[in-house]
Amino acid sequence: MTDGAMKPPAPEPGIPIAYYLANHPETAVELACAHCNNRKVVPFAEMVEQLKARGLGDENSGILEIGPMMKAPCMRCEGVRWVSRPWWPPRR
Ligand SMILES: [Zn+2]
Repeated sequence: MTDGAMKPPAPEPGIPIAYYLANHPETAVELACAHCNNRKVVPFAEMVEQLKARGLGDENSGILEIGPMMKAPCMRCEGVRWVSRPWWPPRR
């Protein structure tokens, strides 16, 4: 098999939640609706609890993996595709 180049790259899990909890406790995860860009910010500790409660993951889950796990519809457009990224508090 040499047609590996045709395969899309595996999704990147991203940096594990544990890294942010340990090194950047001021950060959180931002979930953005892929359709309308509606956003919400969830503290990492809360996100870990949610993931564990639903059996989806834990603090070793990557930041980029979180969004696709979210199945709650967007409150604005009812879309169910979420993109996750780290949220940093605004600098003063
Ligand atoms: Zn939306």
